[in-house]
Amino acid sequence: MNDHNSDACEAVLRSLSDGVLSTNKKGVISDVNPAAETLLATPLEDLTGLTLEEAVPLVNPKTGEPIRLPSPRSFQRRRDDAHTHQGVFLARRDGIRLMVDAEVLPLRGYRGSLSGSVLVLRDVTAQAVLERGRLDQQRISAIGDLAGNIARDFINWFGVISSHAASIADNVLPHTRAHDEARSILETSKQASGLTKRLLSVARAGSEHEPSVERIALGDIVTDAVSLAQGTFAPPEIAFSHPPVKMMPYVMADAAQLRDCLVNLFRNAADAMDNSGTITLEVSDKVEPRQRFTVLRVSDTGKGIEHAILESIFDPFFTTKEQGWAMGLGLTVVKTAVQAWGGRITVRSRPGDGSSFRLFIPKADVQNERGASEDDRTPVSVLVVDDNPSTLRSMAVALEDAGYDVLAANGGEKAITLFRANSERIAVSVVDVVMPEQDGKKVLEQLLDIDPTAQVVMTSGFSRDYVRGYLERGAWAFLQKPYAPDALLHTVKRTLDQRQRSTT
Ligand code: ADP
Repeated sequence: MNDHNSDACEAVLRSLSDGVLSTNKKGVISDVNPAAETLLATPLEDLTGLTLEEAVPLVNPKTGEPIRLPSPRSFQRRRDDAHTHQGVFLARRDGIRLMVDAEVLPLRGYRGSLSGSVLVLRDVTAQAVLERGRLDQQRISAIGDLAGNIARDFINWFGVISSHAASIADNVLPHTRAHDEARSILETSKQASGLTKRLLSVARAGSEHEPSVERIALGDIVTDAVSLAQGTFAPPEIAFSHPPVKMMPYVMADAAQLRDCLVNLFRNAADAMDNSGTITLEVSDKVEPRQRFTVLRVSDTGKGIEHAILESIFDPFFTTKEQGWAMGLGLTVVKTAVQAWGGRITVRSRPGDGSSFRLFIPKADVQNERGASEDDRTPVSVLVVDDNPSTLRSMAVALEDAGYDVLAANGGEKAITLFRANSERIAVSVVDVVMPEQDGKKVLEQLLDIDPTAQVVMTSGFSRDYVRGYLERGAWAFLQKPYAPDALLHTVKRTLDQRQRSTT
């Protein structure tokens, strides 16, 4: 090789981002390029004189065993070309572990005679972290979808179990064993359904489905999330303190996700406070050069977070909790959801001094806010009438979850009062046939007296044939009890569609 060529080779080696170490015939390092010095965090003078194995301690990531590297002599004996190790650990002297691809090749002279060996090292740590992140993301998404599907089925089944139990309880004398047992089935399935809804909330925020970002009233979401927490995991010893919800602004977010995010934050706060203390919500504005945010701060009086783990709490599967339900996904899904609406989340905490999370949520357009009442998205109002409190509650929850505005009456008299005051906005009324004071027939007649075009759906445990007369008297549809929440939603939707068809 002439001088010009060897200068060119030298320049290439210097500018390579891969580390290159060459040895003499005996396997002793004779030269290394700058990238190798950086990768190994060791200067040239400390590397020359060592063997490759001494200078570059590679470890099999699966077994933890050191990896043997071939000596130049072994190339001579076997005449094989190269030894490649992909995705192995480089255990650096300074304690840092990198993931590298390593290749050892024979170094041959002009006539093919062996003059040493060369080791090429490529740092693939960043790639591995990225890949891991992508896998985590896929895992979260897959778990989210799976949990979501199971949870939805369970919620429907629990709806059916509750309806059956409620109808047994209604049909047997109070204070009998059958009555008590039916009520305890009802209670248990209510609790199971609450638990399943929590699972669904994690699943929804974690799934890859496109969030539907729209203008929503923050106050409504706060009200929902607080009552969900109080109805499920937050005992009365936990106080919620927040400004009047009517004063809260409109934000741009996915309503269901935002509610689930708040529930996740409340749940963590409750855990950190050992179920007694105060969760405080504060709302402020933050104007940045390109964006205006509403900042919702959620603070607790709990045990706080150790500085050492503060960075990790948003990582998937990171948890310090021991109980079986903690999956370490709560904050990951909060962060993913908030980022999907164009916002962000930050945390401040000191051990022993509580924690405070700040959600930066994009602000909704002020002009938009004024037009709220004429908005197309004004929810459709539904009146539900049933003397059984748990049936009434589950009807209301199913309809509210589906975006309806619900007016609930536990008897005929209240139903008439509510309908008289709100007939303009009530689009559909769902009325139970068998009620103690005023039965469904009387309620139907009075609703039609007030508004002859009222759309009324009758529900009953009796068969359709038995209540056929109601349909003839002007009811629009019949829903057989017990029914799953989906069946209720389907009937209400179908009734609304019928009205639309008959008016167009
Ligand atoms: P999980 O609740 O399943 O553990 P998260 O992602 O919601 O998962 O939370 C991760 C970890 O962050 C928790 O295990 C806990 O150590 C810590 N953490 C989150 N919120 C709080 C809080 N308000 N106070 C103290 N620690 C918290």
